[in-house]
Order: sequence, then C-alpha cells, then structure tokens
Amino acid sequence: NTTLKGQAALVTGSSSGIGAAIARKLAQCGASVCVNFYSGPDRANDVVRSIVAEGGQAFAVRANVADESEVRQLFEQCAARFGRLDIVVANAGIQRDAALADMTLDQWRTVIDVNLTGYFLAAREAVRYFSRQRVDPSVSRAAGKLIFISSVHELIPWAGHANYAASKGGIMQLTKSIAQEVAPQRIRVNAIAPGAIKTHINRSAWEQQDAADRLLQLIPYNRIGEPDDVAEAAAWLASDAADYVVGTTLFVDGGMALY
Ligand code: NAD
Repeated sequence: NTTLKGQAALVTGSSSGIGAAIARKLAQCGASVCVNFYSGPDRANDVVRSIVAEGGQAFAVRANVADESEVRQLFEQCAARFGRLDIVVANAGIQRDAALADMTLDQWRTVIDVNLTGYFLAAREAVRYFSRQRVDPSVSRAAGKLIFISSVHELIPWAGHANYAASKGGIMQLTKSIAQEVAPQRIRVNAIAPGAIKTHINRSAWEQQDAADRLLQLIPYNRIGEPDDVAEAAAWLASDAADYVVGTTLFVDGGMALY
C-alpha cells in the first residue's frame, strides 16, 4: 500500500533525472511535493506543471544543498507551504571525475560538499522537523521518513571516480548511524543504491550503442535502469508498507553490485 495521501514531501535536486521521477511518483501516490532545484528553474517548473496536470500539488524552490542557510530556508518554505513535512529525499548529487593524480582539491571538495555535506544538512533539518511532529496514524505510522539516494558505488569501487565513491561510501554510514539514532523518535531513515540509471549524469555511458553494450555486461539483469525504477522503490520506502524497514540500503541495480 503506497498511499501517501495527506503527506508532504521534499526532494532535493528534483528538476531532472531520478529526483524528478521521485517527485512525480510521490505526487502520484498523493503527497504534496516541494521540487528543489539549483539551476534551471524552467526544468523545475516543468516538473511542477506535470504534477499539477495530473491533479497533484507541487511547487519549486531554488536552494544550493551544500549551503547551510539556503537549506534551512528551503525547509522553512516547504513546511510553511504545506504545514507539515513527512518525507525528505536527499537526491541532489554531482560527479567531477578525474584520475587521482589529476584530481584537484576543488573537484574533491565540490563532490564531498554536495553529495555528503548536502545530505547531512538535509538530514539535520529533516530530523528537526520530524521530531517536532506528532505521529498521526491516519496520515502515517512514522513521524517522518528520510531517504538518501546513494549508489552501487557506496559498495563497489569506481576507478577514476574516487571522490564520488568516497561520498557515497560516507552516505552508507550516515544512513546507518542516523537511522539508529532517530528510530526511537519513530523516524525511519533508509537509502537506495541505484545502479546504472538513464539520466543526464551518465549520458556518455548509455547513449551510444557500444558504450551501452559494455555497460550491460556489468548488469546481470541485462537492462539499463530507468529513473522510475528508483522512484518506485522510494515511494515504497516512504510508505507505511515499509514501516518496519529501518537503516537499510535497497539496491535498485539489476544485480550490478553482485559482481
Ligand atoms: P541528474 O544530474 O539528473 O540529477 C542531479 C540533480 O541534482 C540535478 O537536478 C542538479 O541540478 C541537482 N544538483 C546538483 N548540485 C546541486 C546543489 N548544489 N544543490 C541542489 N541541487 C543540486 O542526475 P541523476 O542521475 O538523476 O542523479 C541523482 C542522484 O542519483 C545523485 O545523487 C546520483 O549520485 C545518484 N545516482 C545516479 C545514478 C545514475 O546512474 N544516474 C546511479 C547511482 C546513483
């Protein structure tokens, strides 16, 4: 039962790719959705429009997830608009790929700032809101649900992407430690580790047939994932159907991490 009726959700970096699919899916399940974007307000407004066209509720807010005060304002705007907050999906992430010997400190720091510090900042605001919210079983059995979008590279190495893999490895422990800490407040924290999903971030790996064929050799299920594959998992984790699921990482990867 993935109904999210009466709930309010915030999805970071949801003007494109996996975040946009999650925003749409949560709205289809009945949640009101705050679509966070950093650049490209047009794409964020397209996501809002598509949700509203399907009868859902959404609005867009610009914020840099790596900036403490912008994250605070993002949460304030979201809670003010909807009067509550039930679901937070930390999704905004970037890559700045380089071989180690060539990796600049800026490439290292930018990835850690957005992918790891950004998740910490969102998690902290989320937990502050959730812990003030009284559990209303007619809306949800939990006081709040926090979902981190990690990656198969939290587990499997990725040569040439050490900054990205390190940030995702950090998310793995962030998930478990926060989950253990806030579960007594009936806040559920979980992560999703997507494998290769067709989005802008990894276009070079699937757009050309020869690259896609090489990628498929890494995926036992023999298909490249779609943003909706991840969105379905997020909607389930956010719902009461997953009420006893705490501190886990759900791999949505066609078996990629099994190698
Ligand atoms: P994407 O580039 O479409 O989405 C990333 C989003 O984050 C973009 O909308 C971007 O504008 C936003 N963003 C970037 N920096 C930001 C900032 N400082 N503040 C706010 N927003 C910011 O790529 P995607 O594939 O949809 O990636 C979403 C998440 O999924 C990322 O965390 C990524 O690491 C993870 N992921 C993707 C794949 C894949 O194969 N596509 C696999 C595993 C994990």
